[in-house]
Formats: sequence, C-alpha cells, structure tokens
Amino acid sequence: MTVDRNQTLFDRARQVIPGGVNSPVRAFKAVGGTPRFVQRAQGAYFWDANDKKYIDYIGSWGPMILGHGHPAVVEAVQKALLDGFSFGAPTEREVELAEAILARVPSMDMVRLVSSGTEAGMSAIRVARGATGRSKFIKFEGCYHGHADALLVKAGSGLATFGNPTSAGVPPEVVQHTIVLEYNNLQQLEEAFVTHGKELACIIIEPIAGNMNFVRASVPFMKRCRELCTEYGALLLLDEVMTGMRVALGSAQSVYAREIPGFEPDMTVLGKVIGGGMPLAAFGGKRHLMEQLAPLGPVYQAGTLSGNPVATACGLATLAEIGKPGFYEELGRKTQSLISGLTAAATQAGIPFCGDSEGGMFGFFLFPELPQNYAKVMTTDNKTFNTLFHGLLDRGVYIAPALYEAGFMSAAHTDADIAETVAAAAEIFASL
Ligand SMILES: *Cc1c(COP(=O)(O)O)cnc(C)c1O
Repeated sequence: MTVDRNQTLFDRARQVIPGGVNSPVRAFKAVGGTPRFVQRAQGAYFWDANDKKYIDYIGSWGPMILGHGHPAVVEAVQKALLDGFSFGAPTEREVELAEAILARVPSMDMVRLVSSGTEAGMSAIRVARGATGRSKFIKFEGCYHGHADALLVKAGSGLATFGNPTSAGVPPEVVQHTIVLEYNNLQQLEEAFVTHGKELACIIIEPIAGNMNFVRASVPFMKRCRELCTEYGALLLLDEVMTGMRVALGSAQSVYAREIPGFEPDMTVLGKVIGGGMPLAAFGGKRHLMEQLAPLGPVYQAGTLSGNPVATACGLATLAEIGKPGFYEELGRKTQSLISGLTAAATQAGIPFCGDSEGGMFGFFLFPELPQNYAKVMTTDNKTFNTLFHGLLDRGVYIAPALYEAGFMSAAHTDADIAETVAAAAEIFASL
C-alpha cells in the first residue's frame, strides 16, 4: 500500500489550519472523505498530491474560464511580476482594467477594484445605503454574497421576514436591517415592498444563483425586482461575482436584457473571472452612485492591495482572451453537451435528473424538474449525490464537493474530456 499523500497533507494541515482548509467547502465536509491537495494544474486538469489526474469542473470556483496556465495569461503575469508586486499608488493597468470591464458591462459608468467578492458586495451595499440614506435591504435565501456580517443571514421562522444570523459571532442587531425572502417568490417580494419599500436601500440578488447549485431568477421575477426598485427609489444590485463574464461576455444582465427590454441594474458586483485566478473583484454602477465613494464622497472604502498590479495584469489578459469572437458560443456548446450527455446517461439508468447551463456555468439535479428555490434544492438525496461525487472522483472527474454548488466549463475542456465524464457518470448511474 503506497502512502496517500492527500491524507498525510490533510492530517498535517488540520494541526495548523482550522479544518485543514482556508475556505470551508474545500474540506469535503458535505460528502465525506479526504480533500485532494492540488499539486499543479494545466488546461482542464489538475494533479493531486498522489499525482492522480482529474478533469476539473470547479476551476477555482469559476475564475479559470480559460483553463489553468493559459500561455497568454502566464506571460502577462510573469511580465508584471518583474515590474513589482504592489505599490500602493495608482497604475496604468488599473485604468485599463476598469475601461475593459465597463466596455463589457455597459450598465456601469464607473467601477472600483478590490481584492475579493466579499469586499465588493459589502462595499456595494454600503454605497447603496449611503446614496439612498436608507438602511434596510432585501436578500434571497440561498444566494451568497460573501461573508460580511449583515449578509450571513437566513430567513426567520414563520412570517417574520427579518433574518437570523447563520454564523456565530454575528449579533442579531447587525442583521436587523436584512430582509430575507424566498428566491423566485413574487408574492413575498410584493409584500415586502408594500411593508418596507420606502425604507429599502437595495435588493441584492444573484441573477443566476450559483450558490444553490444553478437556479435562475425567472424573467418575471427579475422584471418585478427592477420595477419595484424603480417605483420605491431602491437600487437593484446584481451580484455577478460568479456569473460575471462567466455566462456571457456582458454577464447575466445581458442575458436578462434579451428578455426584458432596457433591463439594467443600478449596481453590479464582479469577481472570479475578472481576476483570472488572482485575488481581484470589483463593484460598479451609475456615476452618481459611484461618486458617493471616498475620496469624492462620504462613503468610505479602501484597500492596501486593491487594483494590485499582478492581479490586474492577470485580469486584463483573461479579458482579452474571452473577448475573442466565438468564445462564448464554443464554451456554451461544450457546457450544453455535458449537461445533455449526463441527462441522457441518467435517463437511460432510470435516475431522475435534470440540468441547466448558461455560457460556461452549469448545474444538475437529481430531480425530474429544475428547482426554483433553496428549500427545493436542499431536498436533494444526499446519499445519491455523494455516491455520484465519489464515483466521479475515483474515475478522475472533479465536481463540486457539495450539491448546492454550480459547475464550471473552461475553454480548455475538450469534447473527449466531456465524453470521458459522461462515460464515468453512466457507470455510476448504472450501479445506483
Ligand atoms: C464567490 C462569490 C462571492 C464571494 O467572493 P469571494 O471572492 O469568495 O469573497 C460573492 N458572491 C457570489 C455570487 C459568489 O459566487
């Protein structure tokens, strides 16, 4: 029996890092087993500490849309490194990246660069509150907007729409202005605006929720969010940290604008893809809102490493590649082919199954029909999901180690990778 280096590293890690990981879902707590420690990655694959190869459908939870180690990105990062890692003073690349982001997501007039999606979401809400002079905001159950205190909240019991903290260490007072509603529930939305509309700073929403697997806000729901915000003077804030430049070059808002003429959010939160794997995120929106920010306005926000020169180089090189003609058509074709392959394999084995995708983001469920909200997603049969997860892992296919996470395709995945994945899943389905 050879030594399992993943296990050795995990044992060591647990002595010095809580749970052995620096972000909870990496710990395999939901599915059991030993997390794979990544040794290196290239293209659509990574190799674990035992040198076992996996087809990677996580891609760092979204950023690696080009696959790992894309040559143009590696070159840009190496070049940037030689000129210095961080200055704490402005650089030309920050201007270039801001311009590149605004060109792709035209609902934003101005953008500020930060280092994580958590920071970006938290700061965008601060701007919304500062600009409206209101404290309350709406979030939806199952949407994740980072781990700022006021956002770690779940729906209260019964009719109470005010949330309860989902984490120890968050005082109830801190979430008293957070109203938590069910995703895609039009009636709750209408009622919340009747009751609190004039006190609402904003709605924050994942347009396609990727933190409860893959659940789209329905078109009527998104349309009503927009209308109610406009009617009551609240702001519509789209959290596109995951969907931004992942589902389309213009992000999820461009997908909704195809169905809702003139659709635009007031503010947008971005992360993941725009950094190409480096710590980089952004929030932006209409000029009069963004001009509320320090040093121009009264809303404070800052960051030592914000707009980091190496991260901006990585982001710019990534944005240049995804802007090439046909990029999203090819990415979307592969994602759809994976989902239809998996669906066919499950159907043949008599397993209830359905999936959905947009651009390079996908989700699948062990249900006959797509769920519309978090409560439904969480009724997934854990045991079956875990069997599927570990079966795929054994066969060298790495999907998210939790049923409430989305999956990600990259430009580096080949049709052969997809066929191998579907064949692996078919074997598992047949054994269920
Ligand atoms: C990942 C994510 C965040 C948090 O971003 P971090 O960089 O992990 O802080 C926020 N919102 C959404 C929708 C995300 O997917």
